[in-house]
Amino acid sequence: MTLLEVKDLAVSFPTADGVVKAVRGVSFSVDAGRTLGIVGESGSGKTVLTQTLLGLTPGGDISGQAIFDGANLLTMTEDQMRNIRGAQIAVIFQDPLTSLHPLYKVGWQIEEMIRAHDRKVSRKEATERAIDLLNKVGIPQASQRVNDYPHQFSGGMRQRAMIAMALSLSPKLIIADEPTTALDATVQAQILDLLLRLQHEFDTALIMITHDLGVVADIADEVMVMYAGRAVEKASKHDIFYQPHHPYTKGLLESIPNSSAVTDRLKPISGQPPSLIRLPSGCAFHPRCTYVMDRCLDEVPELVAVGSAGAHRSACFLPVSAIGLGGDTEELRKKAVSEDRHAASAEVAEKIAAAPESEGSAIA
Ligand code: SF4
Repeated sequence: MTLLEVKDLAVSFPTADGVVKAVRGVSFSVDAGRTLGIVGESGSGKTVLTQTLLGLTPGGDISGQAIFDGANLLTMTEDQMRNIRGAQIAVIFQDPLTSLHPLYKVGWQIEEMIRAHDRKVSRKEATERAIDLLNKVGIPQASQRVNDYPHQFSGGMRQRAMIAMALSLSPKLIIADEPTTALDATVQAQILDLLLRLQHEFDTALIMITHDLGVVADIADEVMVMYAGRAVEKASKHDIFYQPHHPYTKGLLESIPNSSAVTDRLKPISGQPPSLIRLPSGCAFHPRCTYVMDRCLDEVPELVAVGSAGAHRSACFLPVSAIGLGGDTEELRKKAVSEDRHAASAEVAEKIAAAPESEGSAIA
């Protein structure tokens, strides 16, 4: 059952330097109990997208729809939104120290979250629920640690406490924004395991925002790859990893360690993400794309179905059959490029080839 359906969401911010087009017509849906991974480099619009759903982008020009459980989040008043945040949609941020107040005990902060949404819950009941939640997320000796301050918790424990807080009101949807980026690999794996286990236990939907395809591989059911404020590829986790179509997705796969891409060494994606004020013409990825063709310079590719399964969509002019990482697919790409590369795009391709590898961006 669809829990959240976002249609043609656009968010821009007027600034002294021009209009920042942070999100440009993004559509997606999330079903109850499923996980959507949203992947992209910094500045791809993934955080603005989800903050907009929670009414956390004041000053932004917003259009589109975000139907959550039958109601449009984008037209709610601040009072209506306050009832949604935490109770229906919870957020886990990258750095728990910026979310946990340093002067209040961890348990007290969870209790306040519970009591802010239901004043009938007594302090004693709220404490019992806080201990139970800390137990559930694996905090040892929870009945004592409930009285600790955030600085007495390790980084992994603070992130667990944030997850406990997110779960405290049994939300239908959790948005986790780079929740494991600040943690070492072992703790990251534990936190992802925990999120998966609790998601199944509570049948919660999860949106996982990350720049790390390794995290997506661990946890996502569906994946949306974002670039310059747009969705450039959407597919099941399997198709993203084994049948990618968009050159940006391919670049992401080749720039992470232990990817399935057939490559001897990591290959950074040439160049850097574009300014969201002055976007490149045509396909916004063209100044970095080794497959750039003439039409890419001035036509904007739509997100269309590729391959045989309609659920796999990509915004790229390469043939729809050019999916995957093998040699045959590479031949299809090269053939398409040779047919539609003339002086203008050849010049762009030369610049990309001549760019120093060290100036590229590796996502790992
Ligand atoms: Fe590359 Fe052109 Fe596809 Fe854009 S549309 S990703 S520039 S091949």
